[in-house]
Amino acid sequence: MAAKMIVILGGGVGGLVAANELRRLVHPEHRIVLIEKNRQHAFAPSFLWLMTGDRQPAQISRPVRDLVRPGVELMQAEARSIAKAEDWSATEAEIQQAADARADAALSDARTRADELQQKRRVQMDGELAKHQVQLNEIDAAVKAGKAEITAMQQKQGKLTEELAALEQKLKAAKEAARKVLA
Ligand SMILES: Cc1cc2nc3c(=O)[nH]c(=O)nc-3n(C[C@H](O)[C@H](O)[C@H](O)COP(=O)(O)OP(=O)(O)OC[C@H]3O[C@@H](n4cnc5c(N)ncnc54)[C@H](O)[C@@H]3O)c2cc1C
Repeated sequence: MAAKMIVILGGGVGGLVAANELRRLVHPEHRIVLIEKNRQHAFAPSFLWLMTGDRQPAQISRPVRDLVRPGVELMQAEARSIAKAEDWSATEAEIQQAADARADAALSDARTRADELQQKRRVQMDGELAKHQVQLNEIDAAVKAGKAEITAMQQKQGKLTEELAALEQKLKAAKEAARKVLA
């Protein structure tokens, strides 16, 4: 029997299981080709935990490559059309178009990963900045609190000085009164 090529479109839950099971079941002379546009496989049922904040994206994602059995040919590309059986003899232009599509997908994936890395770095930097801002705020708060304490002490001191002056006045008046009585 002539070797066949089995192409599976989409490496989601269904595609991965189909590719792995077919690889297990069919003779190795037949090729199993899995076409998946994304490099990472995200386990959709766990999106619920992502929404509630109980999981991080990295905890529910795995590289598609790690999930396929040896012998499954993984093609990371976006399928754009399916040719009819009678059109299967691809022309040079179609082969070029397919290659361009793969290059586009790889480029778009690289851009996405670069954006993700940049975003991650930005979040880290914001975090660092926030830490320093907190420290600055703490210093500011300490200086402010210190100034308030000094002002309060100065006010207290002023009040005590006034009270002392009033007492001295009273003492003077009492002494005066006593002198008059004794005279
Ligand atoms: C929040 C949530 C909770 C769920 N909970 C459960 C549950 O508890 N139990 C349960 O049984 N099911 C659950 N499901 C459903 C389950 O996840 C789906 O039924 C299952 O993922 C469908 O598998 P699939 O392979 O058909 O499609 P998908 O898993 O969606 O896979 C399709 C794949 O095809 C790829 N693809 C698409 N277009 C192209 C293209 N043009 N070229 C190349 N690749 C392409 C995609 O990137 C994707 O990887 C849940 C789904 C969600 C969203």
